Amino acid sequence: MKGPGKYVFAFEEGDGKNKMLLGGKGANLCEMTQIGLNVPPGFVITTESCLYYLDSKEHDLPVGLMDEVRSHMSALEQKTGKHFGASDNPLLVSVRSGSAMSMPGMMDTILNLGLNIETLKGLIARTGNERFGWDAYRRFIQLFGKVALGVPDEEFDVEFEAVKQKAGAKQDVALSARDLHEISDRFLDVVERVTGKPFPDDPMEQLEIAVKAVFGSWTGRRAVDYRREFNITPDMANGTAVNVVTMVFGNLGDDCATGVGFTRYPDTGENRLFGEYLVNAQGEDVVAGIRTPKPIDALQEEMPEMYQELLELRNRLESHYREVQDFEFTIENGRFYCLQTRNGKMNAVALVRTSVEMEREGLINKQEALLRIQPALLEQLLFPRLDPSTRATPVARGLPASPGAAVGHAVFDADRAEKQGRDGLRVILVREETKPEDIHGFFASQGILTARGGKTSHAAVVARGMGKPCVAGAEGIHVDVTMRKAFVGDSTISEGDLITIDGTSGDVYIGAVQMIEADFSSELNTLLQWADDVARLKVMANADTPQDADRALKYGAMGIGLCRTERMFNAVDRLPVVVEMIVAETTDARQQALDKLLPIQREDFKGIFKIMAPRPVTIRLLDPPIHEFLPSENQLVEELDQLRHLKDTVMGMNILSDAVRFMYSGQQQPSIDCLIDPRLVEEAVEKKEAMLKKVRALYEVNPMLGHRGVRLGLSFPEIYSMQISAVLEAAAECRKEGFDVQPEIMVPQVCTAQELNRVKSYVDAVHQVVEQKYGVSVNFKFGSMMEVVRACMRAGSLAEEAEFFSFGTNDLTQATFSFSREDAENKFLPMYNERGILQDNPFEVLDIKGVGKLMELAIGWGRETRPGMKVGICGEHGGHPASISFCHAIGLSYVSCSGPRVPVARLAAAHAALLEAQS
Ligand code: PEP
Ligand code: MG
Repeated sequence: MKGPGKYVFAFEEGDGKNKMLLGGKGANLCEMTQIGLNVPPGFVITTESCLYYLDSKEHDLPVGLMDEVRSHMSALEQKTGKHFGASDNPLLVSVRSGSAMSMPGMMDTILNLGLNIETLKGLIARTGNERFGWDAYRRFIQLFGKVALGVPDEEFDVEFEAVKQKAGAKQDVALSARDLHEISDRFLDVVERVTGKPFPDDPMEQLEIAVKAVFGSWTGRRAVDYRREFNITPDMANGTAVNVVTMVFGNLGDDCATGVGFTRYPDTGENRLFGEYLVNAQGEDVVAGIRTPKPIDALQEEMPEMYQELLELRNRLESHYREVQDFEFTIENGRFYCLQTRNGKMNAVALVRTSVEMEREGLINKQEALLRIQPALLEQLLFPRLDPSTRATPVARGLPASPGAAVGHAVFDADRAEKQGRDGLRVILVREETKPEDIHGFFASQGILTARGGKTSHAAVVARGMGKPCVAGAEGIHVDVTMRKAFVGDSTISEGDLITIDGTSGDVYIGAVQMIEADFSSELNTLLQWADDVARLKVMANADTPQDADRALKYGAMGIGLCRTERMFNAVDRLPVVVEMIVAETTDARQQALDKLLPIQREDFKGIFKIMAPRPVTIRLLDPPIHEFLPSENQLVEELDQLRHLKDTVMGMNILSDAVRFMYSGQQQPSIDCLIDPRLVEEAVEKKEAMLKKVRALYEVNPMLGHRGVRLGLSFPEIYSMQISAVLEAAAECRKEGFDVQPEIMVPQVCTAQELNRVKSYVDAVHQVVEQKYGVSVNFKFGSMMEVVRACMRAGSLAEEAEFFSFGTNDLTQATFSFSREDAENKFLPMYNERGILQDNPFEVLDIKGVGKLMELAIGWGRETRPGMKVGICGEHGGHPASISFCHAIGLSYVSCSGPRVPVARLAAAHAALLEAQS
């Protein structure tokens, strides 16, 4: 058993920087106290004690811990002049959890601890407010009963409702002291009935039980789910601290209030105090959404002096923490207390705006402005919003609690939302109000809609943190969870009905409303400009069409790192020509089809080159197996069957038509037209048969490892030559029109230098012809994709021909793991992740140890042959922040990702450079 040590720190002595030991909240309370803010006196029990407690077999507290607690309680008695457990001026405390990482609402808090029938008398005598006393007592019994003794809330709710009904009270505030007394008695009975023991009266015993309960909540389901979802590992937060704080009351009368504040607006980032408060109320009333709070501006009228204190607090917090703060305050009989502060959780819009504005105000520098935003968060800014031109009429309006719009099927409880969301359905969680235990439903939902609660209610805070759209407090909606329906005016929303919510306006719609893409704000542009200034990696986009290229440029792409030409082949107007080219039986016939494709591809490339000029554009020669452009064998067999039936029908109809003409000759004939020429059907049958023959000839057991990429290009050199001509002719034409274009030709699926040499010989031949034909010099680069393990091993030799490499980490991951990229994610990968066999999905997060090692080796060998060689990545990992950081570390020149991820990648590239410089 661990011996005595220092487990408890008074707020005056704890190290405000040591969040691992004191938890975020505890460290802050220490720091707040030490910088002179009016914090109610208290102390912190360390996370080390929590870990000890959780590790010990019998769940023991460390030896000496409770002695330390007792001596700190005596110190609190001295500081406050109150006495713990005394009937005269009793000291009450709150017991709150708080780990190194903020996990809002995930663990437990107990208020009013120290109350029993004796101390209650003292509290009533001291405050002269009997109703307040009983109210505090019943709240304490319920909270302590639930959190520390495991009594279900419903047991208390039944008794509470019964008394409320008996008293004829519509709202809780209408309950009298006598009612609350009766409720307290009933609650004490509930505890005894459910736990088999009387409610503990001894305040020190209460404190010990509460400390253990808070420690235990670290391993509760909510907390565990939260840590898993947000990847909070033990080295980020391990165990929870317990904060024991003197209670101050916001519900002692009309000169009391309680509220929450943000030093800036958490949804827009506007530099103005944001908050909500309730007069004569206790903190949980604001957060739980039980009463609808007032906006903080109203405090200026109602309690002008307190409002001034609030403004002062806001300035002190920001100038000390140099970060937007989310704080709680209580006013007790005209005295202002700050109960807690932490870095405000904001959505991406607010983060970006505050970063840029705080830099301009001199609070932070550019590096800090960049580093305070997690790159992945920027994806939120690319959320769709409702198309303003569609005139849908909202059925209800709530508070715009977390911006962005979402469409989904209404689901009325978190478990079903989780299940249906996992099954791939887009759902919106609709609740009267949400509680921390609903968290798993949030993860699976597109957005959240609640009928009750303010902008700081649980639903609002959590949704904002997750960047999910949320409409809170839509009071026109009545949610009936048991019927799985919601009622809005005359309309009913049943489970499964499509609804749309707009978290930016607060509007709720029945049905799916049209969405449009988000715009870039000027602040985001500024921030990303700063990012580009410090990043070493360039950020390119994967874009296949001029439209994609245009969009990528708006996202700040510095070029195109991958243009997959097959998408151009798939366009409806081209596919018939592509099919003609594939089905061709002779080189001549194939060439005829290719001649038709050449001008089309040339126009595509010209479009992209012009948009991107003078930035580089990497065109990849055809990669997929060509059977992908043909219909499937099954489809063709079915169609042929139908055509053959049709042939008989057509012939039969035509015979009938002749017979009728003969039978009715000279008289008025019933009209039976000759249908069509059966030869047409025959021709169609022939075409389909040829196609079927081709499909069968091209059949491969494993096409992804078969006749594709450069293998295909070498089998049908005319296809690659056509594409190379299209690239170089497009470049020549752009040149002649005055555009500075930088084409790069890239060969897929290369495994040996021989392949590259041969394709290069086609390129050289075409290049010569094009320069002669157009009379301009056309510069270009020639390079290789690195997506085959052997290519990585032979990088040194490939670099003799290749001027650049681009890692195709989708295929390289497939090849390294021998996991099919088509099937693994649906079959066994989730199980691998769940059981911890693999930490991540390697198709999403670059596998640094395996795939990354190959990349590192290949870069080294490639650059030995060709010093300073340009090397990039164009697989999906090119837009994943942690993978980007690795790409930076191994010296890649650029990353390339889909257009909407370009802003994320730009910020991630800056983070990588800044963090490297810091380490
Ligand atoms: C890759 O394999 O990583 C790549 C970019 O190519 P594709 O996804 O088209 O196979
Ligand atoms: Mg590939």
